[in-house]
This record gives sequence, structure tokens and C-alpha cells, in this order.
Amino acid sequence: MLNPCDAAFLTALQASLPPATLRPADERYLSEPRGRYHGQAGAVTCPATVEEVSAILRAAHAARVGVVPYGGGTGLVGGQIMTAGPLPLILSLERMNRLRAVEPAGNVLVAEAGCILTDVQAAAEAAGRLFPLSLGSEGSARIGGLLGTNAGGTGVLRWGNMRELTLGLEVVLADGSVMQGLKRLRKNNMGYDLRHLMIGSEGTLGVITAAALRLFPRPARTGAALLVVPSPAAALDLLALAQARLGEGISGFELIAGQGLRFLSEVLPHLRQPFEVAPDWLVLVDLGLVAALDPAAELEGLFEAALEGGLVADGVIAANEAQRAHFWALREAIPEANRLIGAVASHDVSVPLESLPDFIARAQAAVAAMGDMRINCFGHVGDGNLHFNVFPAPGRGRAEYEALRPGLIEAVHDLVHAFGGSVSAEHGIGRLKTGDLLRYGDPVAVALMRQIKAALDPQGILNPGAVLAG
Ligand code: ZN
Repeated sequence: MLNPCDAAFLTALQASLPPATLRPADERYLSEPRGRYHGQAGAVTCPATVEEVSAILRAAHAARVGVVPYGGGTGLVGGQIMTAGPLPLILSLERMNRLRAVEPAGNVLVAEAGCILTDVQAAAEAAGRLFPLSLGSEGSARIGGLLGTNAGGTGVLRWGNMRELTLGLEVVLADGSVMQGLKRLRKNNMGYDLRHLMIGSEGTLGVITAAALRLFPRPARTGAALLVVPSPAAALDLLALAQARLGEGISGFELIAGQGLRFLSEVLPHLRQPFEVAPDWLVLVDLGLVAALDPAAELEGLFEAALEGGLVADGVIAANEAQRAHFWALREAIPEANRLIGAVASHDVSVPLESLPDFIARAQAAVAAMGDMRINCFGHVGDGNLHFNVFPAPGRGRAEYEALRPGLIEAVHDLVHAFGGSVSAEHGIGRLKTGDLLRYGDPVAVALMRQIKAALDPQGILNPGAVLAG
């Protein structure tokens, strides 16, 4: 059993830390983007160095006080929010925001956990390189949280998710010991790869304080198109056609539903709509090519071939970088539009690519059978990753559907499982999906996870209740 983060613990902790590292837990650390959880905490600590993180965990370990690691607060599954149990200490990495190294020749950048993603992208760009992780919350999401959740986003198709972008980690373990793993190596087979144990562990196995991240050459020329497709199946055929023509040149391939565009015109009307009438389905194709290839010409060729094959019905090719940015702004505003409309239930799921059209059709039917609701299904279709989000009928509020919510989530997740998919594609388990992990996870794998947790955090102080509940 854990002890609360009380005055006696804080007094003892204060003695070993500089004064600026402890502060009261204000609302910023206790709320989350979807408003489903409200947290509680004894205090917030904001260490500036790995030594301070080590001292904090050593003290928490000795006193058996729970610690909730905190990044940018953008997580969508409650991983950063502890709502019950003995008051925890929130460990915010926000002051550990230095870039320790930028090495363009080696295509490596070493960032502390508190660095904001857009700052890392900008540092890579200033060095003539690309850090390709890209997602809607990139202006506030921090490297530590992105590693903790193995974040994905829109660049996974070409560059991989956070796991593939990481060469080494510095991690403070539950007892305060520091694992120095900031290797910048492409090849390193010295024993078990503990880096991959930490990435995606959502702060339950250790606190990541810094990472060596991979950089890439910047594509010489970029382009984008919004292509109207008759169906999700056609979107997949279009992806295959695009890959056959352009291979690795495809940097993004995002499915957008007409419902998403209608939500944008409803709640974010300042965003110019690309089509007079929103089509049922469209795809945002983004290219990053070598200097010898002209993106607009390649997109034109792709469009013509796709039109001939019945894979597209209409489309707009970006005439310049501003128009490309506008296409992406539309795509990236969809989560915000969803938030403003207010979802009944949101699902971050992935299914094998060939099952994706069937899954969408069957999930739509399952929702329709449960009541009058709107569906905004969109996402990183090239990765088989969909955000299948369900909303109230026009003029109704999400509160009216609260009783339906558990059954709705179960129906969608059961379907995902039946298709051999994952009920957490890129957001993690947090506290929202701990039941799903038990229900759908392989029992042998879950038992192994428990053994690993017990070995690395025997007191259970790290992010109590996240990933593995109870
Ligand atoms: Zn996403």
C-alpha cells in the first residue's frame, strides 16, 4: 500500500532539492484534454536535472509515495491523471527542456524529456535535418510523454513511430538509480534492449529524462493533394498505386471523412473548405521527394492513373507550399473540431490493412444499431490506424448518451479484436483502457508485464494504476 504525498514527505523532500522544484498542484496538472478525468495530487515537483529526478525518486521509493510522471498534459487516456488513491506527487519534466546535442553529420539529436516537439522539429530544421514525428498536439506535447506513449501521428508510414525514432535513453528507475543509455548507435546488441521496454511504458517502469533521437535528410521538394475517393477500400488501392509509383516519397496518407469537414464548417468556419459539398471520403496525400522529381507533376500523374482506375472521383493538388499547409491545417484541426462538438466515445484503434474497409462498415452498422449518432472516422490509413469517434445527433449533447457509452465502446473494441486489431493504436492504455488490456491482451503477455513491473518497481510507486490496474 502506498503512502500519501503529505506535508511530512514534502518537508523531507524539500531538504534535498533546490527551492524552485516544488509547487502546489494547480489545475493545469489535474485536468486533461477530453475532460473525462480530474486528478488529485499532494504537490508538483519540477526538477531541472537528472540528479534532481534521481533524488525525488529515491525519496518517493523510500517513503512509498506514488509518483505520476507528467509531460505536456496532452495524453488522451488519463495516463497523466491519477484520480483516486493516496495523493501522489506529480513529477513534471517541463524544466528539463535542454537540447544536449545536435549532430547533423550523425543524424542525431539529444533532447531532454521536457523539450516540446515543435522545438525539437525546429532545432532539426536549423541544422538542415528533419525530425519527422508530427501530430496535432505537437505545440505542447513533450518528448518524455511522446516516448512514454510511443506516439505515432502522421509520419509513421514513412518514418515510423517514436520507437523507431529513438536510438538511446537516459532513464531514472523507481529507486532513483540512473540508467545511462544515451547511445547514438544504429547497431548495438549488448544484451536485452531495455530502451524498448521503457518506450510505451507510460511512466510505469521508469522516468525517461533524455533521449537520443534520429534525424533524417529533409526532402528536397514537397507537395500535397486532397483526393476524393469513393470508399475506404478505394483509399487503400490508391495507397498501393501511390506506393508503386513513388515508394518512400509518400510522407503522409491520411483518411478524412466528410463528417470531419462538416464538423469543421460547423465549429471552425474560418477554415476555408476545399470542396463546395463535402465528399463522403477523401485522402490527404503528402509527398517529400528528391530534387529531380516535381511533386505537382507526380501528383497529377497519380491522379490521372487513379481516375482511370476508378479510385478517385475528384481532387485538388496544392499549387504551392501555402496551399499544402492549408490542407494539413484542415486535417490537424479535425481533433479540435471533434473536441468542440463533444464525442460520445473516441476509439484509437488499428486493424490489419486489408480488413480496414470491412471494419469501418461493420463498426458503422454496430453504432447505427445502438442509436442516432454521428461518426467521424479518420486517421492514418496507411498505418491501419483509425480514430473512430462517435458523436451525438445534431442538436443533442453528449450527456444524453452517457448510459450508451460503455456498451458502445465495448461493441467497437470487440469488433477490433475480432479483426485481429489493437484497441490502443497510438494513445496508450493510461487509466482509460486498463480493462481493455485485461480483456483483449494476451494473458501470457499480461502476466509477463506484471512480472516486469514488479521487478522494476517493487513498491509500485511509478504512475500507480496506469497500464496495469490493481
Ligand atoms: Zn492520430
